[in-house]
Amino acid sequence: MSKEQKEHIGGDLASDYTASKELKPCHSEAEAIAAWNRRYVKKCTWSLGDAEFGLYNTECGQAFNLECGTPKDNTMNFCCYCGGELIEKTEADNDS
Ligand SMILES: [Zn+2]
Repeated sequence: MSKEQKEHIGGDLASDYTASKELKPCHSEAEAIAAWNRRYVKKCTWSLGDAEFGLYNTECGQAFNLECGTPKDNTMNFCCYCGGELIEKTEADNDS
């Protein structure tokens, strides 16, 4: 191996080392967001059991009483028991 070749290799190693020390994200922001959106999300369906009392039966076996409005009206996006994404199922949905 000639001196010239060694210097060339040495130069590449030095630049690789420098590059590895840079704080580069593994993925672009768009890729990270796409991966986040693809992640498994547990869902929990809340069925309106008693409209008069705003009683909802949760898919995970609990019951929740809402004084007024629906879970969405109360900006509830997740089940407070199991942490699943809250899916609302009202009586109107049952009829359809
Ligand atoms: Zn739940």
